[in-house]
Amino acid sequence: SEEKSLNFIEEIIETDLAAGKHKSILTRFPPEPNGYLHIGHAKSICLNFGLAQKYGGATNLRFDDTNPVTEDTEYVDSIKGDVQWLGFQWANEFYASDYFEQLYAFAVKLIEKGLAYVDDSTSEEIAAQKGTPTQPGVRNQYAERSVAENLQIFTDMRSGKYADGSKVLRAKVDMASPNMLLRDPIIYRIKHAHHHRTGDAWCIYPMYDFAHGQSDSIEGITHSICTLEFIPHRALYDWLIEQLEIFPSHQYEFARLNMTYTVMSKRKLLQLVNEGHVESWDDPRMPTISGMRRRGYTPKSIRDFCDRIGVAKRENLIDLSLLEFFVREDLNKTALRRMAVLDPLALEITNYPAGQVEMMQSENNPEMPETGEREIPFSGTLWIEREDFMEEASKKWFRLAPGAVVRLKSAYIVRCTGFEKDADGRVTKVLAEYIPESRSGSDTSGVHAKGTIHWISAAHAVQAEVRLYDRLFKVENPSAEEGDFKSYINPDSLQVIEHAYIEPALTAAQVGDHFQFIRKGYFTLDAVHSNASKLVFNRTVTLKDTWAR
Ligand code: ATP
Ligand code: MG
Ligand code: MG
Repeated sequence: SEEKSLNFIEEIIETDLAAGKHKSILTRFPPEPNGYLHIGHAKSICLNFGLAQKYGGATNLRFDDTNPVTEDTEYVDSIKGDVQWLGFQWANEFYASDYFEQLYAFAVKLIEKGLAYVDDSTSEEIAAQKGTPTQPGVRNQYAERSVAENLQIFTDMRSGKYADGSKVLRAKVDMASPNMLLRDPIIYRIKHAHHHRTGDAWCIYPMYDFAHGQSDSIEGITHSICTLEFIPHRALYDWLIEQLEIFPSHQYEFARLNMTYTVMSKRKLLQLVNEGHVESWDDPRMPTISGMRRRGYTPKSIRDFCDRIGVAKRENLIDLSLLEFFVREDLNKTALRRMAVLDPLALEITNYPAGQVEMMQSENNPEMPETGEREIPFSGTLWIEREDFMEEASKKWFRLAPGAVVRLKSAYIVRCTGFEKDADGRVTKVLAEYIPESRSGSDTSGVHAKGTIHWISAAHAVQAEVRLYDRLFKVENPSAEEGDFKSYINPDSLQVIEHAYIEPALTAAQVGDHFQFIRKGYFTLDAVHSNASKLVFNRTVTLKDTWAR
């Protein structure tokens, strides 16, 4: 919006455009296809695509697929689906692996310029020779290899002559640099591994630092935005572009998004999946985009959240309840209102004509009058929520209790006349009388009910399973705690209610529809477990922030 002040990246872009440095901007979102995207990636997606939209540029989707061992096509497909679901469309779909030939040629160019050499040392030797941040490293004898010898060995590395780990190609930068990443970094390694796209065409693979910046440059990316941990990589990014004399992309860093009560690294999320702590990558408790979609979060709520948290230069921990705030805000405007009883208790209206059924009208969404009304069958035997009845109530209790009056949502006012209990002392039925003149919309009773409760006609109730979720971890920042992060998993993060009752209109629910179960929260059909013979609803979020803090 116009009033919002510019973030630091927008300032840079506006300066660049004003100075004529670029005619238009090109950003990229560069996921490694080694897992499903999470809310942190959503932040990066919203930022990269959002900047391009704001300044009339474009964004490439580039798979950073230079590590054959961990990557898979399954992840590629899920990533594309998630980006589109968030509401963004890339200008081009690229793969770093498409540039392998070009990257190889760049490496040859460095060798020819005397700026890269093949090193036969072990990784331990290389690490030892690098020195420490306060002590310069030393070059070994391999750094003295001639250009011709390096070209020959590098060619042989490519053709498969050498075993994994026996040789690497290093850039000849500066073994005394205070930046350890400039101490002759490894830019190619030997890995006889099958790649999900290039198959067995290659047995040498470029390292991240030799793939990322070069890919940016090949595509003509103007603003390459990444997270803070890449600050030390920027010097190498710039050095390589300068030595290769290629398009000068620039890297800018912002603080990664961290959120309370969850973990965000793909490695940790994979552990949660593989060890069965959650059902899958798209388990509704996961901070993945697919998990949030299945839980019922909307693309708009995620975009609004990412917009609101802005672009920071220092790491911080964002409260999960801020994201939930945006979910509620969106769903309040769009979700259809329905009634569902999660913990059923019978309510018998003793003066209602036996066998009579009335159709009650109820608004679908007061925020969207154009959605109209629906009909709900009403009868003398209802299900109400067990927590809406108290045997002995105080004056502040506005729900059912002996003698109390309450409005049944979109129906009648009833007065509680008694209740029944079983041998264990558990209430089995609440008795009430209705006030025939109090029907909603034509109430002439003059009776004032302070509370309104939801209900389902027992004869018309449809059974459904309802799943309630709590935060996945017991502590705010599991990654910062001592020991294994998994020891902080909340054992009660999923509560399955097998026999809830829902109103008949909900049988038309489709995956992707959003509902407000009146007084119970926002719900959506579970895309995995729900089917024609068994409806399963996930609670997306409660109506209020109910977490104790
Ligand atoms: P993870 O540590 O979760 O595995 P990653 O950085 O290794 O994440 P990539 O697939 O390389 O995952 O990420 C693609 C893009 O998303 C990168 O530009 C990365 O900087 C960005 N990104 C990843 N995590 C976050 C985060 N928590 N906040 C903001 N941006 C992120
Ligand atoms: Mg990465
Ligand atoms: Mg990673």
